[in-house]
Parts: sequence; structure tokens; C-alpha cells
Amino acid sequence: MVWFADVALKIGQRVPLPDTVRFMYGRGEVGPARRHVEGWGVLVELPAVIQTLDLVAAGELDLQDVRAALAKVAAAMERTELDAHEAENGETLTPELLRCQGDCPRCLANYDTIRVRHAESARRRARALDPGLYPVAVTNSTVHRVTCREVARTHRSPRFDSDTDDDDMFRHEVKSFTHRGITYELPHAPLTADEYDRWRAERTGPHGGLKYRLCKICDPAVPLA
Ligand SMILES: [Zn+2]
Ligand SMILES: [Zn+2]
Repeated sequence: MVWFADVALKIGQRVPLPDTVRFMYGRGEVGPARRHVEGWGVLVELPAVIQTLDLVAAGELDLQDVRAALAKVAAAMERTELDAHEAENGETLTPELLRCQGDCPRCLANYDTIRVRHAESARRRARALDPGLYPVAVTNSTVHRVTCREVARTHRSPRFDSDTDDDDMFRHEVKSFTHRGITYELPHAPLTADEYDRWRAERTGPHGGLKYRLCKICDPAVPLA
């Protein structure tokens, strides 16, 4: 969110400006371009910066001290923002997470995992185009006709339009997976008749108990085998 702080700006050992300086926290108000530079997410009252630069030019302030003072205010404001978010939402954000666009080191380590899921999605979607060869589609424990509307729903998610690892949707998916443990639902898996037989055998107990169920919408056929 956006909020303000009026700061008696301490530079070096003193407070050289006659008035407090208004800072604004609002990372949504600035783009991501400088997210790895100190101070990102914080805006500052510009004339106070001009005044400060005038004092540097006059030899009254040290430039490194000014830089450190501004960065310190920004870091403190970000800390406040993170603490407030945790208090309100019960979710711990970190400076790393604020800056991540699916491109932090932890995310980059997961690109292959998401690529594998995309490849599996593509394989399943291609199979669904041939309902003669792949008559049913399954989740872990439910069987559908491959033509069931519930199967179709899982096969047409807009994220499947993004099959590269160089677009926002892919990076967002990596970030959700890495930092929040969220994975999108895979399309239901179309099976051949033989695969369906094996799938059912794996889910049938020694006394004939079934560990799967049939979709009530499409009422798929179960071979007597
Ligand atoms: Zn990340
Ligand atoms: Zn169904």
C-alpha cells in the first residue's frame, strides 16, 4: 500500500534541513527497473533532495553521508511495510520476494520443474485431440470420458498459451511455485484402453475394492476385465 513518513533526516551526525522531509512508500507506484538498487519502492520530496545537494555543493555535507541517510530511511520504511503486511495477512514477505519476478536464484532453480510440467500438459492436450485412441481421461483417482466437460475445462486454461520460459505468465507461474508452493492444475490425463486397464489394476485392492471413482457428469464406461 501507499503511505507517508515525515522524517527529520539525519545526515552524518546532524539534521541539516530546517523541515522534515516527506517520504512515500509505494512500490506499486514505481516500475521494477531499479528493484535491485537501494531505495526501491520509496519516493521522496524532491525539493528536499535539491536542498541537500546544494549543501553538498557548498561543502557542508558529505555525499556518502547523504546517500547512506536516504538508503537508511528507505530500508526502514520497507521493514515497516513488511511487518505490517505480516501482521495483517499472516504472510511473511521478504525483500527478496518483493523484488522477485520469477527470476531470483531460487526461482531460476525451478525453471526445469515448471518446464517439465508444461511438457506434460502439452502431451496430455495433444492426446485429447484423438478421443478414439484415448477414450478416457483420469486424475489420480477419478475417471472421465475424454470428452467430458470437466476434462475440457482442465485442457483449456489460458496459461497453456504460454509455452515459452520467456514471458510474464511463465515467470509468474515459477514465482507462485517457488515462493508460495502453488502449482496449477495439470490437464486430466487421457489414456489408451490398455493404459486405462493398468491404471484401474493399480487402483484395485486385493479384495476388489476400488480406489477410484467414476465421474457422475459423464458416466464413463468401465471395461469388464
Ligand atoms: Zn523468486
Ligand atoms: Zn466427467
